Amino acid sequence: MGRRQFPWVLATVAWSQSEEFTRGTHLGLPLLSWGLAPRDKVATRRQLRGMGLRPNGQEAVAYLYFRCRRANKQVFAELFLISGAAPHRPATPAQHTAIAKANLAKRICRTCGRDAGYIVPRETGQCTDCWLADQSTQEPVAA
Ligand SMILES: [Zn+2]
Repeated sequence: MGRRQFPWVLATVAWSQSEEFTRGTHLGLPLLSWGLAPRDKVATRRQLRGMGLRPNGQEAVAYLYFRCRRANKQVFAELFLISGAAPHRPATPAQHTAIAKANLAKRICRTCGRDAGYIVPRETGQCTDCWLADQSTQEPVAA
């Protein structure tokens, strides 16, 4: 049995009018253990994301600590007020189109003009086939 690393502490917290039990503080903020954080009031960045929300620039109000089983180490996650979060804006169709176009342009080989299927190197702007062909013939690249 490990020693009690984090004793119970009653403290003022951002999400409650009354004092709540915490596990002390971490970096100056209330520290909560797994299951202690009220799920309807605070959430980690990842949980916000799962709810379609973003922290909206607010500071973390507490830390949640838990043991990451895979890494076998203690993890401190920032907790944000759900009430202070804003909807995460998904990219608009126009933005998707612009991104797709930009990505497509980066895949077009300037020698053969085909979609290489991957982003061609900026230095050559060529797909691997054309680049290799140029290398083997040692022809100067047409300006
Ligand atoms: Zn090519």
